[in-house]
Amino acid sequence: MQHSGEPSFRQSVDLMFNRAVRLMDLPPGLEEKIRVCNSTYTVRFGVRLRGKIETFTGYRSVHSEHMEPVKGGIRYALSVNQDEVEALAALMTYKCALVETPFGGSKGGLCIDPRQWDDHELEQITRRFAYELIKRDLIHPAQNVPAPDMGTGEREMAWIADQYARMNTTDINAKACVTGKPPHAGGIQGRVEATGRGVQFALREFFRHPEDVAKAGLAGGLEGKRAVVQGLGNVGYHAAKFLSEEDGVKITAIIERDGALVDDRGLPVEAVRAHLAATGGLAGFAGAEFVADGAAVLEKPCDILIPAAMEGVIHMGNAARISAPLIIEAANGPVTFGADEILRQKGTVIIPDMYANAGGVTVSYFEWVKNLSHIRFGRMQRRAEEARSRLMVEELERLSADKGLGWTLSPDFKEKFLTGSDELALVRSGLDDTMRTAYQAMREVWHGREDVGDLRVAAYLVSIGRVAQTYRSKGL
Ligand code: NAD
Repeated sequence: MQHSGEPSFRQSVDLMFNRAVRLMDLPPGLEEKIRVCNSTYTVRFGVRLRGKIETFTGYRSVHSEHMEPVKGGIRYALSVNQDEVEALAALMTYKCALVETPFGGSKGGLCIDPRQWDDHELEQITRRFAYELIKRDLIHPAQNVPAPDMGTGEREMAWIADQYARMNTTDINAKACVTGKPPHAGGIQGRVEATGRGVQFALREFFRHPEDVAKAGLAGGLEGKRAVVQGLGNVGYHAAKFLSEEDGVKITAIIERDGALVDDRGLPVEAVRAHLAATGGLAGFAGAEFVADGAAVLEKPCDILIPAAMEGVIHMGNAARISAPLIIEAANGPVTFGADEILRQKGTVIIPDMYANAGGVTVSYFEWVKNLSHIRFGRMQRRAEEARSRLMVEELERLSADKGLGWTLSPDFKEKFLTGSDELALVRSGLDDTMRTAYQAMREVWHGREDVGDLRVAAYLVSIGRVAQTYRSKGL
């Protein structure tokens, strides 16, 4: 979505990059090398469907190969175009550097409305698109590893993995060619919800710092805060669900394609999601007010605005009317460069996309490592951990009995202490650690430098600095 008179999505990302890089001391050549997109492959392919040949256009863009493989999702939407794919690939470079996943940035897209095709047709289209990319090593465990994005999910990733395995029958690492697969097809526990979970962990970390919360003109913790969520897809649904169920956040509005639901007492996220899945929209949901002009609900007063649908939704035309003091960019690029300027002047705090939605790529990294190591996380350690904890409990109980102390451990404590970490627990721990560490890296720059007034510039400074270091160590 591009509002008139505003730069394109890719230009917007470049302008944000430029705003940050001005504060760095990089040689101009290196600056340019980091900014530019290395390559974009466009493919047009035909698939025989419903008695005729349909031609589809797809892209795979590689922004930076300072680390390989390169990584980034594949998006299915009619709006996909080269500019968008390149912008998203650039964001992937910076995101991976910020959360220390050892990848360069890439992104792919197919111009298609997935809702127009049935499952079997989508499988044929996906396999054919994957074939075109695989034969050019644009899907490859060591070179380019896609993941889900808007309009794609576990199912498409499983088809892609299978297509790669069919074309590379002796590649023992074939499963690592793509992430976001279902657990039974080489995926990892916790990947589906990872981006939404990451948004939750990012907000929890933000609210651990009263100084940062105060910058947004807020106080206290997450409990009771009012949030407006745009897009109840993979990212928005999981973020809304976890924040409302586990942190006491009230989801006071949900915005979808056909309009918005509003309820200041807090919407029942599961029920809304079920209604959306059953009817394809929010209209007709009983028990909450429906507003047909969904975009206007972005301006509704709340504490936290969570745009989780697509880019460019907060633009120069509506930025001044956005009343949320805190925006967390769960989607990629939801705030344009021009809107960012207006919001910063108003004092709005923005937790930037490259950090806020990095949970997906973080858990994708764990999945890729799992595929390469051919073993489930926790399989070797879990029971050993339990045995060690049991020894400790038994020894405590023996001491208590011997000395007549009458100590008893509560059953709840015992159960938790005696349960070894399975894959899901380890994935959550790794994701939580990643989100905390990356926030602290941004925060140090945000608070530590006089010339840095916002988290986005801080995020760019951290990530560009890391990419530059990698290039330098390669002799560039
Ligand atoms: P999705 O397709 O699962 O969900 C998108 C949702 O937004 C859908 O429910 C759709 O109906 C809704 N939507 C689309 N246009 C809208 C509009 N104009 N107004 C309101 N709602 C609208 O996609 P997703 O995977 O949740 O991705 C959403 C955003 O998050 C994208 O920007 C994507 O790049 C980003 N992202 C996704 C992941 C991931 O792991 N899936 C990771 C990082 C970033």
